[in-house]
Amino acid sequence: MPFSSLGLSPSLLLALESAKYKQPYPIQTEAIPAILARKDVLGIAQTGSGKTASYVLPILMNLQGNTASKNRHVNVLVLVPTRELAMQVREVFQQFGANLPQKIKSLAVFGGVSINPQMMGMQGVNVLVATPGRLLELVSSNAVHLSSIDTLVLDEADKMLNLGFKEEMEKIFALLPKKRQNLLFSATLSDDLNNFNQVLLHQPLVIKIENEEENIDLISQLGYFVTEEKKGPLLRYLIKHHGMKQVLVFTSSVYKADNVADKLRKNGIDAGAMHGKKSQEARTETLSRFKSGKLRVLVTTDLLSRGIDIKFLPHVINYELPRSPKDYIHRIGRTGRADSAGEAISFVTEEDKHHFKVIQKKMGKWVTMIDSEGIDMKGY
Ligand code: AMP
Repeated sequence: MPFSSLGLSPSLLLALESAKYKQPYPIQTEAIPAILARKDVLGIAQTGSGKTASYVLPILMNLQGNTASKNRHVNVLVLVPTRELAMQVREVFQQFGANLPQKIKSLAVFGGVSINPQMMGMQGVNVLVATPGRLLELVSSNAVHLSSIDTLVLDEADKMLNLGFKEEMEKIFALLPKKRQNLLFSATLSDDLNNFNQVLLHQPLVIKIENEEENIDLISQLGYFVTEEKKGPLLRYLIKHHGMKQVLVFTSSVYKADNVADKLRKNGIDAGAMHGKKSQEARTETLSRFKSGKLRVLVTTDLLSRGIDIKFLPHVINYELPRSPKDYIHRIGRTGRADSAGEAISFVTEEDKHHFKVIQKKMGKWVTMIDSEGIDMKGY
């Protein structure tokens, strides 16, 4: 089915053409008509499935003909777990909203940067993309009102509805009008999400895109048995020996991320670290250098495992394994996106062996293991 039969306006079809989206992805075919008809939607789909455009396009369309937003009353609220995802989603609103007959103003707000420009920018905003904490700060200083929200989107909904955000989310829900359209998107249907969706969603259209395995099949996975001390040399060996040009490396702590990036730089590999302890300016700058291919290696924590779209990222390396199998899938899902192949490598120590088995079992796939003992890492 082409985009033109989904009910989108000619100007949106034009924007799709210039974005070189030829065919709708499955989630878009299902979600766009339902959202246009103002239905609630629960979309279970991997990042990489095209879920952002599946709500951005119909929301922009529904906003056409809407009377301009009242003073500081936004129409659409998109809640996301990280600052980077907030910026990324906002960019998609801008990209597709740029040439619409009626201008749609969107804004991303998140903590870690000064609140003043966000307060000033709130005038006339239709679509607000926000992380929960900063949104509440803006509400309490009367910079924004949530009582006119027509549509609420929870992106990475399982994360938004789990314990970490519970208090903030309850405060936000209390401020929203009861009658509204709710759109929840999540890569997995966790218990948290199941519990909440019954309260939040009204006779939703449930879309389950069964492409998790397909996506995972695009990713070739490898594991290396390695000792803790040899992880550094092995990482450098892989990057240099295999001529890797763009590599995302995951560690489990901020300290480790800094440390691994430092060591890479000392060994002549252009690397940067990005995590929650860095300033927002530094985070944004490092991520954009990496996305544009100017930075060879980005070392990060699970902060970046969700939702972030890096086109054609060829390599993900788990320097340390994540605790949950779900996070493993999120991490390796940064590669193999939008139908391009990718490679995910995991470092597995003696202590990790059992845990890595659990991860593989949950994923339903066995990973080929290589013993790094047999690799000559001298000079790395
Ligand atoms: P998402 O799952 O929303 O993070 O999207 C994953 C990637 O797929 C993004 O880089 C989008 O620009 C791209 N994308 C989404 N829908 C389409 C489409 N119909 N055709 C081509 N690329 C798309």
